[in-house]
Amino acid sequence: MADAPAPACRIDGKAFAEGLRGRVAAAAARLRSDHGVQPGLAVVIVGEDPASQIYVRNKGEQTAAAGMRSDTHRLAETTSQAELLDLIGRLNADPGIHGILVQMPLPGHIDSAAVLDAIDPAKDVDGFHVLNVGRLAVGLPALTPCTPQGAILLLRHTLGDLSGLEALVVGRSNIVGKPMAQLLLAENCTVTIAHSRSRDLPTICRRADILVAAVGKPEMIRGDWIKPGATVIDVGINRVPSADPVKAAAGGTRVVGDVAFAETAAVAGAITPVPGGVGPMTIACLLANTYLAACRAAGVEPDVLG
Ligand code: NDP
Repeated sequence: MADAPAPACRIDGKAFAEGLRGRVAAAAARLRSDHGVQPGLAVVIVGEDPASQIYVRNKGEQTAAAGMRSDTHRLAETTSQAELLDLIGRLNADPGIHGILVQMPLPGHIDSAAVLDAIDPAKDVDGFHVLNVGRLAVGLPALTPCTPQGAILLLRHTLGDLSGLEALVVGRSNIVGKPMAQLLLAENCTVTIAHSRSRDLPTICRRADILVAAVGKPEMIRGDWIKPGATVIDVGINRVPSADPVKAAAGGTRVVGDVAFAETAAVAGAITPVPGGVGPMTIACLLANTYLAACRAAGVEPDVLG
């Protein structure tokens, strides 16, 4: 009988993110002591969405913990687009603010694209401004979206050189799927993007040395879709009923990814868990982008953080 494949290595994004946050904090401290510049991040939230409130609080706490200036602007749900654009204009002009992040989603009466477009591209630490999207696409230095950037750091840490590997990104959103594909291309992978209209997704998945799932469908990607030894990056964050029926009946929930973890871990070479995989990398990369933006504004060569 053939030996069962060894279980996949679990990629510890939580530990890697902690290390990255420490390197950013050390680099930010040097920027402050050597050049008198303290990186500053402004986070803007409109409305009371509970999940967004938690994200914003975490971002603020981790920014301050890294020794950076952290300003949070909490605006009422009824804030007009003109008022929001006015605030962004003031933040663009503030020399103590190097990064601006507007928490999505915005209330329906505000045009998100117009808001993202109003952010100074040099302060666009989310990497969503069309200028940064375009710079990434043509291979110029850009501020790149935090979640895909975090996924690339985990892949490099796990695999080293990614050149020539078959990479599949499932999902084509502007915030994860498309920039992820661009970053994999920049790493010299052979890149495929799959989406809701793709035909025979299991067969496409079985070709991938690297599979990045960014779909938003709980445990959609199954173990028998995975090429043995592949590296699987699960970006999905999905809240589902608790596995314990008693807790589920009382409304208890748990978080799972887009990948069926246990069955995939039995086939893959390495896999990110959910939670504790890509998720923690997002804020760490946001801090790294803020540090980078502060260095560029000051004309200082940034420390290598990756
Ligand atoms: P979107 O809903 O914007 O995009 C989902 C993508 O998945 C779309 O491109 C869609 O295709 C594709 N898709 C949907 N169903 C299928 C299917 N059956 N087969 C193949 N593709 C399909 O989601 P996001 O990109 O914003 O987020 C994806 C996941 O990542 C979510 O779970 C989200 O919570 C998580 N996330 C995690 C972050 C973090 O770790 N910090 C940050 C951001 C997101 P089509 O374009 O054809 O509709």
